[in-house]
Amino acid sequence: MKKPTIFFALVCLVAVLVWHIGRTAPDLALLRTYLEAFAEQKAQSPFLVATLFFLTYVAVTALSLPIAVWLTLAIGALFGFGWGLVLVSFASSIGATLAFLVSRYLLSDWVHERFGSRLTAIDEGVRRDGAFYLFTLRLIPVVPFFAINLLMGLTPIRATTFYAVSQMGMLAGTAVYVNAGTQIGRLESISGIVSPQILLSFALLGVFPWLARFALGLVKRRRVYARWKKPARYDRNLVVIGGGAAGLVSAYVAAATKARVTLVETHRMGGDCLNFGCVPSKALIRSAKLAHQMRTAGDYGLEPAAPVIGFRKVFERIRQVIAAIEPHDSVERYEGLGVEVLQGRARIVDPWTVEVHFDDGSARRLTTRSIIVATGAAPFIPPLPGLDDVSHLTSDTLWDAFAERDEAPRRLVVLGGGPIGCELAQSFARLGSAVTQVEMLPRVLSREDSEVSEFARRTLEADGVRVLTGHRAIACGVTGSEKWIDLDSDGVTSRVVFDDIIVAVGRAARLHGFGLEELGIPARRVIETNEYLETLYPNIYAAGDVAGPYQFTHTAAHQAWFASVNALFGFVRRFRVDYRVIPWATFMDPEVARVGLNEQEARERGIAYEVTRYDLADLDRAITDASAAGFVKVLTERGRDRILGVTIVGEHAADVLSEFVLAMKHGLGLNKILATIHTYPTLAEANKFVAGEWRKAHVNPVVIAWLERLHAWRRGR
Ligand SMILES: Cc1cc2nc3c(=O)[nH]c(=O)nc-3n(C[C@H](O)[C@H](O)[C@H](O)COP(=O)(O)OP(=O)(O)OC[C@H]3O[C@@H](n4cnc5c(N)ncnc54)[C@H](O)[C@@H]3O)c2cc1C
Repeated sequence: MKKPTIFFALVCLVAVLVWHIGRTAPDLALLRTYLEAFAEQKAQSPFLVATLFFLTYVAVTALSLPIAVWLTLAIGALFGFGWGLVLVSFASSIGATLAFLVSRYLLSDWVHERFGSRLTAIDEGVRRDGAFYLFTLRLIPVVPFFAINLLMGLTPIRATTFYAVSQMGMLAGTAVYVNAGTQIGRLESISGIVSPQILLSFALLGVFPWLARFALGLVKRRRVYARWKKPARYDRNLVVIGGGAAGLVSAYVAAATKARVTLVETHRMGGDCLNFGCVPSKALIRSAKLAHQMRTAGDYGLEPAAPVIGFRKVFERIRQVIAAIEPHDSVERYEGLGVEVLQGRARIVDPWTVEVHFDDGSARRLTTRSIIVATGAAPFIPPLPGLDDVSHLTSDTLWDAFAERDEAPRRLVVLGGGPIGCELAQSFARLGSAVTQVEMLPRVLSREDSEVSEFARRTLEADGVRVLTGHRAIACGVTGSEKWIDLDSDGVTSRVVFDDIIVAVGRAARLHGFGLEELGIPARRVIETNEYLETLYPNIYAAGDVAGPYQFTHTAAHQAWFASVNALFGFVRRFRVDYRVIPWATFMDPEVARVGLNEQEARERGIAYEVTRYDLADLDRAITDASAAGFVKVLTERGRDRILGVTIVGEHAADVLSEFVLAMKHGLGLNKILATIHTYPTLAEANKFVAGEWRKAHVNPVVIAWLERLHAWRRGR
């Protein structure tokens, strides 16, 4: 029998019992009569009677039968206040925990499977504050006792926490009823036990934990700041450290709202995205794509041509592209917006003071109400023996290093099968390098579904990249004039000889050397922040790659809005950073773009989903453009028009995805996309067609059968 069915059977049993109890409802007079008989039994064997009452109480609360009040009064009358309280308190908590466990065992999986993504926020709230919620609910009896037990069973709260908090929370109410039991002779009605004053006291007790937490927060705050001397006044409202996406947007928001803001950048304005990341890599990808198109010109009815790669010129173009975009992020532009820009190295010396060290050896101290740390991330260099001997390149260094070369590296190793590794491997292969890409995991783009990884692998191989997945680099070195890397795959060692190696195995947040350690700000992998992006010191915020959990320019900018608004206006209202709909893309050719969940994530989270696919081989525009490889894959909630996530593989997938990003952000389903006119012929039509596929799969067969009959009748048959 399925678990929900067992639960339903149990509910029916309890309903019958409740109905029966309702028909033979006890009253005080009847209770007093029973008590006389029990008092005699108790005089003879007190332990046996206590055990019987205890077990009955556990069963009554576990089954949520509405006679717990009568049992409590009886126990109070028979055993007195002290023992009565002990018996009822433990029995009710154990019974409640049993009901909680039954609900968790029989219902939790089913409920999460059905409503998974919609419960995420509740689950997170309970994980964070579950004990507080439960304590309040136990004290303020607005939600029935049994409902609390059953609902809490569906949340991730620990059973031990549930038990302990229930026992504490129910103690005051239990004491009132056990005490009433000791006075049973004088009691005139059940409703008289709990006066409005007592109810109010419970309510006050219920809010007590929240007040206590607020007070604790204040104390913690004071303690964090205790060793620092706060300035009497501040030169600035905000100092932003780092002039990348996160820092620039933070400074922009501050200047736009007329705050006094200083932005400190130690290297190049625009940060990694402009200088070493998104911009140069996309410019490289474009040149590489053209070289590929020249080779495959036959697909378009033209004579294929072997491109003559002016490697130096490709990198010259990359410089020009950066130069063309640079003004958007320049000192001049930001100063024009009202931001004070200092080009130096910032160091936080206390929670309100940033010291800026300039290249000429001078330094300046700035006092500020708030600080935003936006120092970004740098390529992670694995502790690979011999790596230093082979003069490895990274995304930070390759642009300058290759700009000096006339030819692409003859034999190139790209270490890493993530998005950056894949983009670079494909580009250099198209520009003429013999590329070997090494990935430790069984597949490239391992965060994506396996069919996407497989597609990416086939694409890379079609471009001539030798893809070695499941290969762990174990050592590097130079023998004679030859550089090599040794790889381990299932215990078998192989050697790859190369001229250049690019290390692209991930990026590590920049956490050291600017005061975090001295201030004791927790930062292991990234700077630890709360949902408002506050660090340990509530006036110091972190945003962008240094804060994680994402490492994209658009998420850095998104966080920057929250960090700056909270830093400047948090005294009025703070905003929780919203990560519900985050898109991203790997700009291989064809592109891989995603928003929300893919299948592997939905499975990991136990969310029931449906998949609808549309193959680009059918799309008119993709066919005219000879770019019909790829697909759109949409995950929806089972049986509902609610988009959980979308993966698109194909030409301009990152742009085509935007419609789904908007839909998910604003809760629009596939029916809405289907009802939207899409220009013909465009790649974006794929979105409408995938929505059409979903619609077709959800047509009601009974309605269709009736329609067929209707048309037949209209034809006179
Ligand atoms: C090859 C590559 C390709 C990428 N492609 C994409 C892409 O296509 N799309 C995408 O969304 N993302 C991409 N990214 C990621 C993107 O570049 C980052 O997510 C983004 O730059 C993060 O911005 P940030 O402001 O957090 O940090 P950064 O841009 O790293 O800015 C931090 C700045 O802080 C400065 N700084 C550090 N310490 C100090 C200090 N003590 N004092 C003063 N200044 C300091 C640094 O000099 C730096 O300029 C790519 C990255 C790489 C490497």
